Amino acid sequence: MNDYDLLVVGSANADLVIGVERRPGPGETVLGSDLAVHPGGKGANQAVAAARLGARTALLARVGADDHGRLLLESQRAAGVDTVGVLVGEDPTGVALITVDPSGDNSIVVSPGANARLGPEDVRAAGSLLHASRVVSAQLEIPLETVVEVVRNLPPDGRFVLNPSPPRPLPAEVLAACDPLIVNEHEARVILGDACVSGEPADWARILLAKGPRSVVVTLGAQGALVASAEGVSRVPSVRVDAVDTTGAGDAFTAALAWRLGTGWDLVRAAAYAARVGAAAVTRPGAQASYPTAAEVDALDG
Ligand code: ATP
Repeated sequence: MNDYDLLVVGSANADLVIGVERRPGPGETVLGSDLAVHPGGKGANQAVAAARLGARTALLARVGADDHGRLLLESQRAAGVDTVGVLVGEDPTGVALITVDPSGDNSIVVSPGANARLGPEDVRAAGSLLHASRVVSAQLEIPLETVVEVVRNLPPDGRFVLNPSPPRPLPAEVLAACDPLIVNEHEARVILGDACVSGEPADWARILLAKGPRSVVVTLGAQGALVASAEGVSRVPSVRVDAVDTTGAGDAFTAALAWRLGTGWDLVRAAAYAARVGAAAVTRPGAQASYPTAAEVDALDG
């Protein structure tokens, strides 16, 4: 009996958001809106998204003993995430400084803080959490060697899901463990380099699959997603919605997919469900604040 449907290993950041008329140039100061502080970071977002859907979820992450760390712990607990694996240390909690202009475009500077200290030794120390989880998901806002250690410590029947964001080239050992590797267009381009410059998304999915993952999912925003595995490439439609804010939609998609795989759904069905969760998430502002319950996903038209 697994204690958790999903263990998320990843980052936790405080998102500090200021609205601006325009971004400052070098040496310039501009006035902006009041500061808004939200819990964020790809790991924390995924864990909240899964728990809100009803998944038994745990998070392995690092935060500081500061107000931002407390905000993150509170938001995880409020969503129902088990925070036994959230380590509180001396380094400050990671911060994302975000300016948003009137067109909704973001500029973001991330200070990794405690996220950079989530190390391989933390993964080894969390062996019982890994072994109690059906699915383990990770992203790349933590050190790559930590993700490598996750792959090396998966339980024999455990499944590994990776969203390589922010993207960087991946070792063969990590690629081979992904089932699936989940990428958007930008991440696919970085991982594939020149190989995808002229192709269609279905081509990138096939080329990525040939690099070693057991399966690949390419997310395509309002166009839904593509699923590639040994059985071929399938298109998963999205649901037509009025998009208000796409922040964190990819994290909601990944969390929903990982959870549904853990409950025994096949990849195409799980991706179709994840696309509905991603669509629901873009209908409300914010990242974690936008994540739907399972009942809200079921109630979506289409
Ligand atoms: P993020 O902004 O979090 O980095 P991403 O680029 O990783 O997102 P997207 O492809 O934008 O991921 O979104 C993930 C999923 O959410 C999509 O595959 C789709 O199912 C759903 N989605 C995103 N945007 C829309 C939209 N405008 N309408 C409907 N569904 C959407």
